[in-house]
Amino acid sequence: MTATETLTAGTRAIIAVDGPAAAGKGTLARRLAAALDLPYLDTGLLYRATARRVIDGGGDPGDAVAAEAAARALEPGDLGRAGLRAPDTDTGASKVAAIPGVRAALLDFQRQFGRANGAVLDGRDIGTVVFPDAPVKLFVTASPEARAERRWKERQARGEDVSLEAVTAEMAARDARDASRDTAPMKPAGDAILLDTTALDAEAAYAEALRLVRQRLGLAS
Ligand code: C5P
Repeated sequence: MTATETLTAGTRAIIAVDGPAAAGKGTLARRLAAALDLPYLDTGLLYRATARRVIDGGGDPGDAVAAEAAARALEPGDLGRAGLRAPDTDTGASKVAAIPGVRAALLDFQRQFGRANGAVLDGRDIGTVVFPDAPVKLFVTASPEARAERRWKERQARGEDVSLEAVTAEMAARDARDASRDTAPMKPAGDAILLDTTALDAEAAYAEALRLVRQRLGLAS
């Protein structure tokens, strides 16, 4: 492979970063995208914006008709709505995400985004459904305790008065819903590399992820 081909392979590649809530995949994916000069897509934001559209309109995110209509009507402005990281959006997003019509409505956008110039995408089903042929797939995990503690600290830093027990329970319910749904359940692709960040800080997790990605893409480290 020539230097130019190597660069092309690196810059147009699809890198799938999946995993459960608060495993650190968002931060990792964003930094990988910057390092590799690739566009970045937080696909969770699409499900969050869909849920928010339904909730803000007074609807129930579990209502399949309302949720699919919201997903089909999604506009760029929805990605800037208030409350996209609020706890009711966390739960609402995982409810709309279990509805097949919602997933179908959001699939084309994700594929077109990635195909245009390559991309790093983070989510739950990128390596299994959205881009099953991606050359690099990371499945980022951490123990439930470590993830709950990270999310609890984030929420405390935002000034929320919430207990670690409540965060742990909400996260467990969301992960269970994401992993048990019939359509595109959260699971590692057969060819995904597992990256457990329980004992790694953000810097160490990023360094290891970049090493793994470079190795899979055949890029010099
Ligand atoms: O990643 P984030 O926590 O923002 O995702 C919010 C929710 O959106 C997840 O709990 C999951 O239900 C859903 N989601 C999904 N598939 C993706 C990304 C997110 O089902 N690719």
